[in-house]
Amino acid sequence: MIIDGKAIAEEIRTRVLADAQALRARGIIPSLDVVMVGDDPGSIQYARSKEKTATKLEIDFRFHHFPEATPEEEVVAKVKELSADPNVKAIMIEMPLPKHMNENTVRMALNPDKDVDGLHPVNLGKLVSGAEDGFIPNTPLAVIRIIDSVGFDLKGKRAVIIGRSVPVGKPLFFLMLARHATVTTCHTRTVDLPSVTSQADILVAAAGKAGLVTKEMVKPGAVVIDVGTNIVDGKTVGDVDFEAVKDVAGMITPVPGGVGPVTTATLFENVIEATKKNS
Ligand code: NAD
Repeated sequence: MIIDGKAIAEEIRTRVLADAQALRARGIIPSLDVVMVGDDPGSIQYARSKEKTATKLEIDFRFHHFPEATPEEEVVAKVKELSADPNVKAIMIEMPLPKHMNENTVRMALNPDKDVDGLHPVNLGKLVSGAEDGFIPNTPLAVIRIIDSVGFDLKGKRAVIIGRSVPVGKPLFFLMLARHATVTTCHTRTVDLPSVTSQADILVAAAGKAGLVTKEMVKPGAVVIDVGTNIVDGKTVGDVDFEAVKDVAGMITPVPGGVGPVTTATLFENVIEATKKNS
């Protein structure tokens, strides 16, 4: 079975729109403020696509765009100002920031209750400690939404994650652990990756390396979730050799059309949560 990420994203957006309309009916305006520094065309396009989705979901959108050379203090001051503004419900800082800025310094200026990325240390700490009132980072949340949507029960299952990054691999470890899976994290120093991945009932690839997961690395019938986004010969592909692995896996997400659209939708789920929290 090929998992339809676009359909799952559509279900999430339908819920988000209903929530946004219900909030508006009570006089509460859901909103997202995006802070971006620099002119990376990809990031600008990404921010603009968020604006389009926000508009469709009846969520107000404000874009705070700073030139590349802006001093760090100026951006920090803006993030603090937005954090303190009662009309601002949800804030997202587009990454990466320019090299002269410290990501952590800028992020720490953010009110954790408006941090819809879920990457502020307070929210990551809540995730690790099992507190349920924090924001969960968008991509790992998307993976969980996909798992729930296909009705896969993680309890007692062997889950293997390839990738240990802060926004993806690490938070996903704790989310899967909370669902009672036996979770293993692999990374670039893992010895004999295939021997680990071939034990997985559910395998998540989040390495950013096209063709990393071959069919020999997948247990027959396993669920395979491909987070990877790589451009090869002008085409977007995942980390999984999709054509070969789809014949071995029980279920698999394609790239594009898998985790990507669900990740965009989960951001807006967090925006609704933030609006409720800050109203
Ligand atoms: P990252 O570069 O920060 O982390 C990659 C991780 O994979 C590292 O922990 C590294 O140790 C591991 N890794 C890399 N090569 C490996 C190998 N050969 N064997 C084993 N482990 C290996 O990247 P990230 O931000 O976590 O993103 C991972 C991928 O997911 C990228 O392709 C990124 O574009 C994509 N991504 C997609 C979405 C989405 O919505 N679909 C969202 C975020 C990231």
